[in-house]
Amino acid sequence: MHLMNAVNADLHCHSNVSDGTLSPEDVADRAHRNGVELWALTDHDEIGGQQRARQAAAALGMSYLPGVEISVTFAGRTVHIVGLGFDPQDPAMVQGLADTRGGRERRARDMAASLAAAGIPGAFDGALKYVGNPDLISRTHFARYLVEIGVCGDPHEVFKRYLTEGKPGFVEHRWASLSDAVSWVVGAGGVAVIAHPGRYDFTPNEEFVLFTEFKALGGQGVEVVTGSHTVAEYGKYADMAQEFDLLASRGSDFHDPAESHTDLGTLPDLPGRVTPVWEALASRVLHP
Ligand code: AMP
Ligand code: MN
Ligand code: MN
Ligand code: MN
Repeated sequence: MHLMNAVNADLHCHSNVSDGTLSPEDVADRAHRNGVELWALTDHDEIGGQQRARQAAAALGMSYLPGVEISVTFAGRTVHIVGLGFDPQDPAMVQGLADTRGGRERRARDMAASLAAAGIPGAFDGALKYVGNPDLISRTHFARYLVEIGVCGDPHEVFKRYLTEGKPGFVEHRWASLSDAVSWVVGAGGVAVIAHPGRYDFTPNEEFVLFTEFKALGGQGVEVVTGSHTVAEYGKYADMAQEFDLLASRGSDFHDPAESHTDLGTLPDLPGRVTPVWEALASRVLHP
């Protein structure tokens, strides 16, 4: 049993620097109010909010780890890799993330064209109204617009009917490679973590290949307790963390008070049999 497993760590969440709706300062406030002791803001493909997050955490007396969630294309599918405890100024990381973000506007225009062909015009400008960072147009912003105009009742329904593979608003996109994403994080002194593995619909064999390649590339962690997992998946991925000798992470994946079903800092503790990622990152934690 690791005593540190009981730390209220929330190492996965989003601000309006990517597809969350709150500012980094407001996410920090909410985390702190909910009892978070160790926090990381992990915006998609973007570390532009890191300094603000770190300062807000310090002002609240909350410990902080630099964070990011990198979009990766692996075996033809999108996988997310969370990076924790890296140097946010590392040039290869900064450039790699800029390249990863680069295709998003083109993709958003193609998505809008595809939605227009399906009878929903104006979605690019509509989505843009929800974007806090023009470099980071995401499917989430389209989902909010389609709810606004009454096409769907909630963002989840938009994803189901329009924004996922085979649906009218979906556009194939090539993100970073797994190898690049892991090497950016590791090269910048951080730990790479497979985000919400339960969400990918991989077969057991595909999942084994992902974990094996990730380890071989220098990846060290996996999310076990996340807002994207069922209670059964906490157990399954705790087992896989042990099997692959990976550190375990915990994070809500909070985006918005109304949209997100898991609030900051409210998840159960990591199971006692895994080693928390923050134990290995102790020297990288920024104390207030
Ligand atoms: P993107 O990076 O533009 O492909 O957008 C991915 C984001 O869409 C994820 O980080 C989630 O925030 C959101 N998302 C994906 N699937 C769903 C879903 N089924 N319901 C609600 N949001 C989703
Ligand atoms: Mn998101
Ligand atoms: Mn994700
Ligand atoms: Mn996320």
